[in-house]
This record gives sequence, structure tokens and C-alpha cells, in this order.
Amino acid sequence: MKAAILNARKAEVHLKVGEVPRPEVKAGHVLLRVLACGVCRTDLHIAEGDLPVLREGLIPGHQIVGEVVEGASAALEVGSRVGVSWMGGTDGDCFFCKHAMENLCDHPVFTGYSVNGGYAEYVLVREDFTHLLPKELDATHVAPLLCAGIIGFRSLRVAGVQPGESVGLFGFGSSATLAIPVLQSWGCKVYVVTRGAEHRATAERLGATWVGDEDARAPVALDRAVTFAPSGKVVVDALSSLRKGGVVAINAIHLDQMPAFNYDTLLWGERQIRSVANMTRADATDFLKIAQELKIQPRVSVFSLEDANKALLAVKNETEDGSAVIVP
Ligand SMILES: [Zn+2]
Ligand SMILES: [Zn+2]
Repeated sequence: MKAAILNARKAEVHLKVGEVPRPEVKAGHVLLRVLACGVCRTDLHIAEGDLPVLREGLIPGHQIVGEVVEGASAALEVGSRVGVSWMGGTDGDCFFCKHAMENLCDHPVFTGYSVNGGYAEYVLVREDFTHLLPKELDATHVAPLLCAGIIGFRSLRVAGVQPGESVGLFGFGSSATLAIPVLQSWGCKVYVVTRGAEHRATAERLGATWVGDEDARAPVALDRAVTFAPSGKVVVDALSSLRKGGVVAINAIHLDQMPAFNYDTLLWGERQIRSVANMTRADATDFLKIAQELKIQPRVSVFSLEDANKALLAVKNETEDGSAVIVP
């Protein structure tokens, strides 16, 4: 089968498109024919070596929409259309799995990182970590929901957002655009702080209550904030915009570094900084249901598998208005 394989970290061209053997089905797994695979900033962190290497010759990609072609079961027939996200498996056995925190599992499987992902014609995935998809959305439009959408939604949960609250979104990308309709459906006011005139225009188009550039300060004290930029400075900016008792949730698997900040003025008053790590299957189920109800339809830019490097570059340089999606 054709696949895009990671071959040159820290080089200009990260992926090499070539032929590799199609994976063999094994117990508890299903083989999917990939219909679409979204490109996530995490893929870029993996390709650029910001995250440690777990596997040589990796096929990245963890926002997979696929059709079951082998290994089907009564629950998942041949032809079923499913989504696969970053969380590709857990041990089911550790402290975290036993306490409803499978996102923190001690022995996790990460799709497109610890196992091969969806920048390919076929992918082997654990059956119990697939998500049946609503028929209404086509494959390319559902792909960005599978990480950007689900983990953006988890960020709102981690931040403890309550209906009607004022919520800041700091840094703006695919995740933030998908979080806005969810927040609006909860009656929240959305304050967006981001560099880039295009991002601000998108936020305005999506109906944000207020939009400002990176040096601007929201006109109200925020109840909650979510940061999407891989920058510690942005976390401190978000923290300095919170009311007492407010929470910043960091939606980033990697940050450049956290700058020093003043505890007395910024964190005192029971303000909290929390990271958002991975996702649970419940997050996926709940978000996909909401996305269907709200008819969330992300903007997408479609790339062929041969153009996988261009898709990564588009995410790096934020040149596309919509989410980059690879269609093999
Ligand atoms: Zn576990
Ligand atoms: Zn992701």
C-alpha cells in the first residue's frame, strides 16, 4: 500500500511517500481503508522531533476516517465507517484506567505515534478505540473533529466551563474554531486573543463576542481560558486575564517553555493552570454527538497523500484557512 513515512526529522522534508506492506489483521483489531486523515499540530511536533521518537519508520496521522475492510465483528461490520483519534488504546488495567482517567493511562497507544497512523491507504486499529461516525458528515469534514475537535472539547471540560460564562481562547487554530460553536450553544461569551489578522477575521465570522491581537486584553475578567498556541507566554497572558478562582487549560502537547511569572498577582486567588492530556473515549462520544446536533462543519483544505509534506507545511505556517486533511 501507499503511505507517507517519517524519514528525516529536523530536515525540510519530513515525509517520504512510498510502498509498504499492508498491515495484517490481528486479534481485537480491524483493518480500515483510509478515507481521510486530518493533519494535527502534534504531527508536526513528532516530525520536527519536539516529541521523543517512539518508533522508526513511523506513518503519522491520528484523525482517521476509515471504512472497515477486515477483522469485522458483530458490532462493527464490514463497510462500517469509523473514526480513530490520538488515543488508540490503553492497558485497561492501571490506576488511571480503573479511575475513569484513561487519557492518563500508564501504557497508552497513540495513533500515528506509538503505532502507525492514517497517512496511508490502510491502517490497523484497535476495534474498541474506533468511533462510529454520523452519516451526515462526509469523511473530509469529519476528520478534523477527531483530534482538534475532541481535544478542544476536552479542554473546555478541563477548564470547567459553565453555561453563560466568559471564556477566553488564546491562540487560534482548528481546535479553537471547533470550540466556538460548542461554547455558543452553552450561552457562553467567547473572547479570542490571537496574532494574525486572518485568525481574527475567522473568529469574528464565527461570532466571537470580542477579538483582540496578542497584546490586547479582554475587556472583562474571564471565568475560564483555553490556550492553543504552543507558547508559555500565551499561558501567562491567559492567566493574567482571569478572575479569582478562574482556570486556564493548556491545549498543547508541547510548550516552548513557561516564563517566570508573579505568583502574588497572577496565581494567588485560587486561579489554576491545568494541562489537557489526550482524551477519553467518552470525550469522543460526547463531542461527536454535539458536533452532529450543532451541525459543526469545519473548513478543510484537501491534500493528496503525495502532498503530505505540503499538508504538514500548511499546518506549520498556518497558510490555510481550514484544517488540512489528507485523502489517500
Ligand atoms: Zn491504563
Ligand atoms: Zn492531534
